[in-house]
Amino acid sequence: MTADIFSSFDRDHLWHPYTSMTDPLPTFKVDRASGCEIILADGTRLVDGMSSWWCAIHGYSHPVLDKAAADQLKKMSHVMFGGLTHEPAIELGRLLLGIAPPSMTKIFYADSGSVAVEVAMKMAVQYQFSTGNPEKSNFVTIRSGYHGDTWNAMSVCDPVTGMHSLFGSALPVRYFVPSPASRFGGEWNPEDIRPLQDVIEKHHGELGAMILEPIVQGAGGMWFYHPEYLRQAARLCREHDILLIFDEIATGFGRTGKLFAWEHAGVEPDIMCIGKALTGGYMTFSAVLASDKVAYGISDNPPHAFMHGPTFMGNPLACAVARASVTLLLESGWQEKVKEIESGLKTGLAPAASLPSVADVRVLGAIGVIEMKKPVDMAYMQRRFVEEGVWVRPFGRLVYVMPPYIVSGEQLDKLMKALVKVASESDR
Ligand SMILES: *Cc1c(COP(=O)(O)O)cnc(C)c1O
Repeated sequence: MTADIFSSFDRDHLWHPYTSMTDPLPTFKVDRASGCEIILADGTRLVDGMSSWWCAIHGYSHPVLDKAAADQLKKMSHVMFGGLTHEPAIELGRLLLGIAPPSMTKIFYADSGSVAVEVAMKMAVQYQFSTGNPEKSNFVTIRSGYHGDTWNAMSVCDPVTGMHSLFGSALPVRYFVPSPASRFGGEWNPEDIRPLQDVIEKHHGELGAMILEPIVQGAGGMWFYHPEYLRQAARLCREHDILLIFDEIATGFGRTGKLFAWEHAGVEPDIMCIGKALTGGYMTFSAVLASDKVAYGISDNPPHAFMHGPTFMGNPLACAVARASVTLLLESGWQEKVKEIESGLKTGLAPAASLPSVADVRVLGAIGVIEMKKPVDMAYMQRRFVEEGVWVRPFGRLVYVMPPYIVSGEQLDKLMKALVKVASESDR
């Protein structure tokens, strides 16, 4: 590693995610990225294991997405969505409704995942208000969830690993139940639903919606749980007029082996958030999908309008790239590719399971997780991964990968070897 991949201006002036401004870990300067590789300023090539946090499913600088962006730029990068509409928004909407749960019929475009979660939560509250249940304005969720960093999104993130200790007194108080202990692919333990049942039976009068990530809990703990939980939760919600919000921002677009994770359970939500891989990682963009029930509940009653409207709503550039990305995905044979990655991850990570420092190894779709017994030394691991020629960013006790779907067998092999090697160094 050479000095020019570290910038002193960056260190002195630029805040990075979840980082101290005065004592940050080093950041590596990227010159460009292409295919499944991130190329640092000194020419070091890293195989990308992160898809830039679930987003870059087709890898970087993909000619099809580059062209979609360039073509759209020639027409317009942005126009306001108030009173105007355009082809990219319409065509993307058509495409999304074709792959979403059948009950999803309406789309609200938003700027980022967190904003989509805010919008979904506002939709639920406004639905309950407009249909004569203004007191049903609170939320229930499962622990170990992650829904974003804005205020309301934060309020439904895991209260321990999330930011509640810091912001707790300023946050709305939500109902939390344990996340299901029954693993995906394992036995269903009927006791898992009991806490939710208790909370709903006791507090349904004030509960407007349940929000959760279906099947895969991402940044809150990388946990894969049993689909039966979703079926039981949906039944309880329906019985008590509680809307069901699925946050598929991380799980969407094939990552779990299904196009969307709800398909593992066959349970449709009332509201669904998508984001991250929506634009193939090209720019920030998200969408909130809603059922007729939600849309008519809000719009048939005063004040009729849904009260949200971001400045960059329906951004044409983002819509055009998203449309190209989703089309590319559907035409790419993604199912085969994700299956291949899944079996590569299973074989490649298996040796980690016997390391003394490792608590659990799990794989679902194109997601591979090594859960360590103790929190990792981030500074050490980050540097070691770069030395091994891969880009992997662990957090807490979790060392995990979700590579772009275009990863080659050889690149995946390199990633797996690096993961097992660096994880084993914790046993020194
Ligand atoms: C990343 C993420 C969000 C927040 O999205 P941002 O674009 O970072 O605001 C919300 N929910 C889930 C499940 C996520 O993984």
